[in-house]
Amino acid sequence: MKSEKLKELRIVHYGHPALREPAEQVGRVSGEIKALAARMIELMNEARGLGLAANQVGIPKRLAVVVIEDEPTVLIDPEMVKTEGSQKGEEGCLSLPRLYGEVERPARVKVRATNLSGKRFTLEGEELLARALCHELDHLDGRLFVDLVDESTLHWLVRTRNGEEPVIQPTTLEDALKVFLLAEEGARRR
Ligand SMILES: [Zn+2]
Repeated sequence: MKSEKLKELRIVHYGHPALREPAEQVGRVSGEIKALAARMIELMNEARGLGLAANQVGIPKRLAVVVIEDEPTVLIDPEMVKTEGSQKGEEGCLSLPRLYGEVERPARVKVRATNLSGKRFTLEGEELLARALCHELDHLDGRLFVDLVDESTLHWLVRTRNGEEPVIQPTTLEDALKVFLLAEEGARRR
């Protein structure tokens, strides 16, 4: 991918087909993949996210970036090796902005992935990291947190004016997804 094309990449929102596409294996870590990973880290940082999967920039390849101990970590062709226990907690997604809800996830996970040097490594995570890893690996299979969310906890977090506390607005899954689909349709028409 040319560098101008990389610059044009944006985080896509619910309704974009790449979010539902099972991603393809990457295999060899080419210069193109390294450049894509770097751009994804940039976009994740700009959006202040904790993770971003390639599907979320419209490219269904098995590549994700996750913040681990404040450092962006690149996971290529990641696989879930082991999961243990369970935890319930709030989740959101850069592709479904302002929408949050509780999702049950394993308490501890072990993931195997390739790094930017092409070496396989193993990563263990618990609590928030376990949640982030599950969330990003789900993206690579075309799965979103709204597929697993406890609908009774689903809500919008609406920011009003600067300095004011954000307002919580409960919503149904159907209504929330409609909002995103309408926005996507509008974006396509422009
Ligand atoms: Zn997400």
